[in-house]
Amino acid sequence: QIGGHKHANQFDHLVKNHPCLSKEAHHKSGRIHLPVSPSCNIQCRFCKRGFNKGEIRPGVSSLLLKPEETPAIVDKALTLCPELKVVGIAGPGDTLATDYALETFAIMKKTYPELISCLSTNGLKLYDKVERLKEVGVETITVTVNAVEPDILSQIIAYVIDEKGKKLTGLQGANKLIEAQLKGIKKAVELGILVKINTVLIPGINDEHVKEIAKVTKELGASLLNIIPLIPQHELADIKAPSCMLLERVRKEASEYLEVFRHCKHCRADACGIPGKGQSLHKELYDKEVVE
Ligand code: SF4
Ligand code: SF4
Repeated sequence: QIGGHKHANQFDHLVKNHPCLSKEAHHKSGRIHLPVSPSCNIQCRFCKRGFNKGEIRPGVSSLLLKPEETPAIVDKALTLCPELKVVGIAGPGDTLATDYALETFAIMKKTYPELISCLSTNGLKLYDKVERLKEVGVETITVTVNAVEPDILSQIIAYVIDEKGKKLTGLQGANKLIEAQLKGIKKAVELGILVKINTVLIPGINDEHVKEIAKVTKELGASLLNIIPLIPQHELADIKAPSCMLLERVRKEASEYLEVFRHCKHCRADACGIPGKGQSLHKELYDKEVVE
């Protein structure tokens, strides 16, 4: 049961309607991602952010919207995809590096209170902003946690930019991010927000460590873990993508601590529709081929 018995009823409507939280909803509920967050405050070694129409993966969006432009897009999306239940913000950068996601959710709360608001973040600013997220009606938050040990995380991220704009590298940067994530997850759970963890599985770096991530985040109150196979690129281009066998093994190990969701597709920051049923709404939605 997602969230354990205490939360069973509290999260019931989320689990029934959110395609990223349950197998049942995954094939019948839709979600739209609003690409309003342009910049990021960390650098993952596997992330080559860009605005590109060919690739389908997180961190890529064909366009950027201003918060005030989003109601018209959601309006249209609801006509094209009446199964739409969730408005998510997942990028193309980090959703809390700027305040555009917060502004967008505030608008959504007024215009579409019946839609579930979902945010995906690297967690660096989660602790500082989670109360405001709660105020604007965010009900589910996904935090990408790729390691809870600094020596492992420093192999995955190149740097973190702190509140003074200083670049923290190595163990210093890794420590900063881990601390912020764990504090942020705990506080989000305390505020009654459903927290899902995303972990990018990186062979040779964190494959033995995912169960520890599951254990630590479960203790903080996370409800669900989504293990995403690495798409080797950028600084980690030479690592081989995980095999299905490895993915299966790691999922099994992690599931001893935290429920594992197995139906995730790599979604773009501007995805729309029922997950896995194609990106076909994109052109109708934005009335144009994508902007480079
Ligand atoms: Fe890229 Fe997301 Fe990492 Fe930022 S947090 S560098 S957008 S993968
Ligand atoms: Fe939320 Fe992530 Fe699903 Fe988008 S893909 S709706 S951000 S859980």
